[in-house]
Amino acid sequence: MDLALVRDTYARMTDAELLQLLRYNAAGLTEEALEIVKEEVSRRGLNPGIIHTVALQNMDYAGYEEAHCRYIQSLPCPECGSVVQHLNGTMTYVVHSIIVVTQTEKQLAVACPDCLDKKIDQAMLTTLKFGWWSFHGFFFTLRALILNFRSRGHHRAPEANFNLKKWIAANVRHVHVSMEEGEISPFTR
Ligand SMILES: [Zn+2]
Repeated sequence: MDLALVRDTYARMTDAELLQLLRYNAAGLTEEALEIVKEEVSRRGLNPGIIHTVALQNMDYAGYEEAHCRYIQSLPCPECGSVVQHLNGTMTYVVHSIIVVTQTEKQLAVACPDCLDKKIDQAMLTTLKFGWWSFHGFFFTLRALILNFRSRGHHRAPEANFNLKKWIAANVRHVHVSMEEGEISPFTR
């Protein structure tokens, strides 16, 4: 790695760009790159706490699954802001068919159970409108409806469901930083 280039790249960034990078995309920095980051942060007089945020993104998260689940489940719903029910996860399946092409779009989401139900309803409605307009579309539509029903069945599980765990695994660095440093939301980038 060309350290001069790394130094130059950081030096060219605005404070906001550098902070954005360090908050959200600092996983996998080498020791040398981390030293350059520290120099750059102190040269600019930025809050040195950001170095801790970088370290959080580069740690091993094994053993944190339950803590991550409890943390995410305790947050206000990112869709409606409600704190009445604990959050959970879902996977929506939307089928689009155009003549001979049929596509299924899968999407993970985290929200309160009521908002998750709405997402599934929307996915099923869109699939029923646009899913079956091709030879294979009919079968894909049927399959998507079954899978959406299956997702819906786990929205009110007392514990973190499979889809929430999957979402957390996909966003684990961000979830961990957010859990440790309260002002960063795990739902926005
Ligand atoms: Zn909600």
